[in-house]
Amino acid sequence: MDFALTEEQEAFRRTVRRFADEVVAPRAEEMDAAEEFPLDIVKQMGELGLFGLPFPERYGGQGADFLSFCLAIEELARVDSSVAITLEAAVGLGANPIYRFGTEAQKERWLVPMCRAEILGAFGLTEPDGGSDAGATRTTATLEGGEWVINGTKAFITNAGTPITGLVTITAVTGTEPGGHKEISSIIVPTGTEGFSAGKAYRKIGWHASDTRELVFHDCSVPEENLLGERGEGFRNFLQVLDDGRIAIAALAVGLAQGALDQSVAYARERRAFGHPIGATQGIQFKLADMKVGIEAARLLTYRAAWRQTRGLPYKTDASMAKLHASEVAVDAARQAVQVFGGYGFVEESPVARYYRDAKILEIGEGTSEIQRVLIARDLGLPGTDF
Ligand SMILES: Cc1cc2nc3c(=O)[nH]c(=O)nc-3n(C[C@H](O)[C@H](O)[C@H](O)COP(=O)(O)OP(=O)(O)OC[C@H]3O[C@@H](n4cnc5c(N)ncnc54)[C@H](O)[C@@H]3O)c2cc1C
Repeated sequence: MDFALTEEQEAFRRTVRRFADEVVAPRAEEMDAAEEFPLDIVKQMGELGLFGLPFPERYGGQGADFLSFCLAIEELARVDSSVAITLEAAVGLGANPIYRFGTEAQKERWLVPMCRAEILGAFGLTEPDGGSDAGATRTTATLEGGEWVINGTKAFITNAGTPITGLVTITAVTGTEPGGHKEISSIIVPTGTEGFSAGKAYRKIGWHASDTRELVFHDCSVPEENLLGERGEGFRNFLQVLDDGRIAIAALAVGLAQGALDQSVAYARERRAFGHPIGATQGIQFKLADMKVGIEAARLLTYRAAWRQTRGLPYKTDASMAKLHASEVAVDAARQAVQVFGGYGFVEESPVARYYRDAKILEIGEGTSEIQRVLIARDLGLPGTDF
């Protein structure tokens, strides 16, 4: 077994960490308060090649492995979850479906500008009536005269209304399968298509500088060739994309938790009570020690899932375990960090207040903790999990 990152991965991690510390961290509080999408930072990340990381060079990508993408997400989340999720969703959910299932023409048209961060793609699976039960899709797409006519609504879609959003890939019911089940396909809908509109950004507890919107399709027509992948494979394809996304969310959770620990250790060394630093008390030391153990375990699960993904080994359950554990570790770490900061942890000037608000969504997005447990139970062969 080799637990070491390669020299290349270590050097890449240092580069992203420097960028996170020097460019992102000084702006994090202000971006959070203004709830503004950080376009200039996204552009700089594009220049660093982060938006094309795991894609081949022939599409303008960096040809890096999936673990390197996770390292970038982790380092960004250590200082700012909004910036980290913007990258995670753009690459993991926006570009990845086009790379995995697109035709060469679709890759040329969409993936190449996405790798350069000229445009961002969004991933429209969730609907107002169904997130966990994503197969209950109500949005329809009917083929009429060589065009898909789309009607329906998608909810909570990340990067759907940024100044550079170029498209959303959605799931829609395109017919009925022979067994009577819904036939679900995925279709690319470019921004600006008539009949497609993005609503106002949601007011969220956290991820304030990340863009999340409802999308409405009303007799929205796109050409037949905007079908992504095989007709009827849309739902299955989206679930595969989510397996990758879950590893990246686990990396985001590890980064947030590490940031919360780093801030807490620094504070515990400085803050004094009863004549000595609070870090000299066993009560605080034990909290910090427990945080460290949880984070290292989450990191190992995450890196192993990414390693299996890169080697082409089965990784579905590994992705669920990493996402489940890391997101719960992140929520706990953020909660304990606020406790270490005491009253200062409850005011917005302290970074850990933002970490506390940003952590909760990690147990919900890209499959809730309950759904991850169902998937892990399914892998154990337990009855009642195959729905
Ligand atoms: C900020 C943000 C960004 C998002 N970005 C995207 C995006 O880019 N694209 C996208 O498609 N979606 C996105 N989502 C949607 C997200 O993936 C869903 O919110 C999530 O999957 C949960 O779905 P739901 O909200 O419909 O909750 P529900 O499915 O209604 O679940 C409600 C509760 O019931 C539980 N539950 C449901 N079924 C079961 C079961 N079988 N067993 C046990 N418990 C169960 C859930 O775990 C949860 O606790 C985003 C959401 C947010 C908040």
